[in-house]
Amino acid sequence: MGDPNGFLTVKRMVAPDRTPLDRIGDWQDFHTALPCGEQERQGSRCMNCGIPFCQAGVLVKGAASGCPLHNLMPEWNDLIWRGQWQAAWLRLMKTNNFPEFTGRVCPAPCEGACTAGLNDFPVAIKANECAIIDRAWAEGWMQSQPPARRTGKKVAIIGSGPAGLACADQLNKAGHQVIVFERADRPGGLLTYGIPNMKLDKAIVARRISQLASEGIVFRTGCDVGRDIPAQQVRKTHDAVVLCGGATRPRDLAVPGRGLNGIHFAVDYLTASTRWLLDGHQAGRPAIDARGLDVVVIGGGDTGTDCVATAIRQGCRSVRQLEIMPKAPETRSAQNPWPQWPAIRRTDYGQEEAIGISGADPRSYLTTALACLNDGRGRVGSLETARVSWVSGSQGRLTPVPVSGSEQTVPAQLVLLAMGFLGPEQTTLDELQLARDARSQVQTGEGTYQTSLEGVFAAGDMRRGQSLVVWAIQEGRAAARACDIWLSGASLLPG
Ligand SMILES: Cc1cc2nc3c(=O)[nH]c(=O)nc-3n(C[C@H](O)[C@H](O)[C@H](O)COP(=O)(O)OP(=O)(O)OC[C@H]3O[C@@H](n4cnc5c(N)ncnc54)[C@H](O)[C@@H]3O)c2cc1C
Ligand code: SF4
Repeated sequence: MGDPNGFLTVKRMVAPDRTPLDRIGDWQDFHTALPCGEQERQGSRCMNCGIPFCQAGVLVKGAASGCPLHNLMPEWNDLIWRGQWQAAWLRLMKTNNFPEFTGRVCPAPCEGACTAGLNDFPVAIKANECAIIDRAWAEGWMQSQPPARRTGKKVAIIGSGPAGLACADQLNKAGHQVIVFERADRPGGLLTYGIPNMKLDKAIVARRISQLASEGIVFRTGCDVGRDIPAQQVRKTHDAVVLCGGATRPRDLAVPGRGLNGIHFAVDYLTASTRWLLDGHQAGRPAIDARGLDVVVIGGGDTGTDCVATAIRQGCRSVRQLEIMPKAPETRSAQNPWPQWPAIRRTDYGQEEAIGISGADPRSYLTTALACLNDGRGRVGSLETARVSWVSGSQGRLTPVPVSGSEQTVPAQLVLLAMGFLGPEQTTLDELQLARDARSQVQTGEGTYQTSLEGVFAAGDMRRGQSLVVWAIQEGRAAARACDIWLSGASLLPG
């Protein structure tokens, strides 16, 4: 800790995002960066705590408190304050394969747990992380490093999201020949087709994937394991298999009119938008298009926010977001103390943009959809909504109940379902006859990441359920170590 008074004399500062009305005119990243000198000053706010809660990465009341990757924040905060950026980068890379992803999209449980946040603002850990890795790429420190020796062992990874990529990177470093199977036309999982370009530029994802390929990892895109090639065959032709297929089964809306045209799952909509963008969007329109339409997004979480921001950029006429939960408090409640993840109301980029256009927050809280109404031509034209109240059932479980008389009809020619995910798709898991837990996720041994089948491992959302990029990276790394031990008897990879 270079400056013992840093946390007293330097105020937290993060670079302002581009203004909502400026950024909705394009699909470029809406974040900006601080000047280098100011970012270094931000590093001085870190107190090098005796117990760095920012690093803990434990679940407290079901949410992460501190970094699941146990990033070495006190060390690299101090190093950037001293201007030793290359040393900071080397420390950062020890625990995180892809800081350029987490530095952009992570909700930063590290900051929620940072001690400075007890009575002031937390250290700007996420922005510091992003600045370090962006500088490393700009300075040319991020060179391709193929392994010095190969083990002769072949590992198949099914799924190329952050869990699959982290696992592939680690196993390749250990010298195994890694082949990543991906059914989509481009690798990256939800980093590519899910999180929109303005939040995570696809050039940044592609840059990293091409570096992994240059280090010897083989990507087989357009190959759906279980359909294009049997999972058993993949298993027979490889020494080990790691399943990283995500938790892609979306929760559906069981209301009358669900079968009408114009009602889509959020990820299908976001995928179509990004594919259109990457395929050269000057020509034509995306396969699912919000232009000129009244859009209703059902679901008030991050996926819903991505839909709001995407619909705005596509030129929708209006956008609303229905949230079945009540509005969260503005500050931590007494039941939600530090270092728990702060369950507070956040106005994210999509909502900021809607407010910038119409002056109103697009979210309606404690609201649900009752029915999708036909426009007379087989397409959704409007949505019947109602307010709900949460009522305690016979076993004390709260259930949302529509409030009689609160029904409203809102225009909606495009309805996007962003109500969460139910777990992994089951086809490949059925074919391999793998044990699953009560939530249909792949069951693995405690700490081993090994499934009920010898030599078959699982990581990421497929194992833990829909989660965060940072957890997926952590799982990919841990599964790689477990797989390496299984293949080689021991491993030098970190867990
Ligand atoms: C719209 C959206 C936005 C999000 N935004 C954020 C965010 O801002 N920050 C954050 O931290 N988290 C975010 N998340 C969550 C985060 O993206 C996921 O937790 C993370 O991507 C999970 O990684 P994964 O590798 O386990 O799975 P995924 O990223 O889902 O990747 C799984 C991959 O496996 C492939 N696959 C599946 N089955 C097969 C098969 N049989 N054969 C071949 N390939 C197969 C799929 O095509 C997919 O590419 C978001 C999620 C969504 C849906
Ligand atoms: S908790 Fe905050 S102040 Fe303490 S070491 Fe971590 S980043 Fe620094």
